[in-house]
Amino acid sequence: MIMESIEILEGRKKQIYQKEQNTEQFDMTCDTKSLSGSVSQRACVFCGSRVVLYPVADALHVVHGPIGCAAYTWDIRGAVSSGPELHRMSFSTDLKEMDVIYGGEKKLYASLIELIDQYQPKAAFIYSTCIIGLIGDDIDAVCKKVTQEKDLPVLPVHSEGFKGTKKDGYAAACNALMKIVGTGSTEGISPYSLNILGEFNLAGEAWIIKDYYEQMGLEVVATVTGDGRVDDIRRCHGASLNVVQCSGSMLKLAKMMKEKYGVPYIRVSYFGIEDMSKALYDVAKHFNKKPEIMDKAKKLVSKEVSEMYPKLAKFKKALNGKRAAIYVGGAFKAFSLIKALRYLGMKVVLAGSQTGNKDDYNMLKDLCDEGTVIVDDSNPVELSKFVLEKEADLIIGGVKERPIAYKLGVGFCDHNHERKIPLAGFVGMFNFAREVYQSVTSPVWQFAPRKGGLG
Ligand code: SF4
Repeated sequence: MIMESIEILEGRKKQIYQKEQNTEQFDMTCDTKSLSGSVSQRACVFCGSRVVLYPVADALHVVHGPIGCAAYTWDIRGAVSSGPELHRMSFSTDLKEMDVIYGGEKKLYASLIELIDQYQPKAAFIYSTCIIGLIGDDIDAVCKKVTQEKDLPVLPVHSEGFKGTKKDGYAAACNALMKIVGTGSTEGISPYSLNILGEFNLAGEAWIIKDYYEQMGLEVVATVTGDGRVDDIRRCHGASLNVVQCSGSMLKLAKMMKEKYGVPYIRVSYFGIEDMSKALYDVAKHFNKKPEIMDKAKKLVSKEVSEMYPKLAKFKKALNGKRAAIYVGGAFKAFSLIKALRYLGMKVVLAGSQTGNKDDYNMLKDLCDEGTVIVDDSNPVELSKFVLEKEADLIIGGVKERPIAYKLGVGFCDHNHERKIPLAGFVGMFNFAREVYQSVTSPVWQFAPRKGGLG
């Protein structure tokens, strides 16, 4: 049922529900283009592909379009690299009026030759933006020509911003990655090996997860794309398993690899004690021919959990009964957050995502408490009103939700790709609890009290 106490655009009503007992059938409308004029929080197709490919650190990333697209996504993730940092540069062909009239292919070609000569990358990703879709530059032809001349993969990413949703950008990124998967040698890869998919090494999270798998005796062939290297991606089809987190962005790649190379996949989440432990156990179950992998997983979980529980007690005490609003990119992450917040004694009053599908929202509905607002592809006005009405003490979101929280006098936890502290893994649960605690109980709220209630 849609809440009557706030104004909602007519065209948005089927993307907002409040969970109530014995209400009409829950049927969330999602996976659609954003409603014109609603000022969606959702990013464009180009941004979707950019965030997925950005952490490939030894590749050149060239944004073919006006400078604004490159500026919008410059250094867009907090993805760290253990080696090269070419990914942090935001190269652009900086198309101007005359390029729009006469075409930008020559400019793209010249830019690529110059950049490849200067930076000697292992591969290059060329992103199409809105304007390229409109003027019809043949970036495939330019990429093919440069590939032949420079003898390295120059990969077009068909991510014209207006052509769909952020999810279409994920698909464009997976299509580009799939062109290099399978081009390297798989010699020497252990039968007890995996790829970490959909982990972007924000604040070093991929290193934490990789260490867990290595402690279990497993070889990590590639992390796609956190701390990513082109040569690792080339040979990752030799791994025995794809472990997919952030399924919205990488499930497509996992499915393509299963079809073409027969690599099976499982879906996991690394957020919260419950889901992190389950991820390690699920991976160990896959390798059940070698029972010591499960033994090591159990030992690891037991050690980490027994160290973690006492440290969380202080936060649980202070946060018990507080109310949280979650608005994140993928719905899968929201599931883990709800469980983690519940562990801390908090109640989730709003749960939403930019890219969830019907199955995701059905799961979200089952997981949420009565009265929780569930929303797809929301906007600042809706989020602000729900946060006020539900008297949330905390918003969990990304860079676009942060100002909403602060303006409303509400605590904030950045769980998006700009974050600077690791929130994945067992140590991530501690960091998450501490961040939530510090923000919700901050003395600053004495001077900027929470706006709230219906009165
Ligand atoms: S691709 Fe289009 S929607 Fe995306 S940033 Fe560029 S102009 Fe904006």
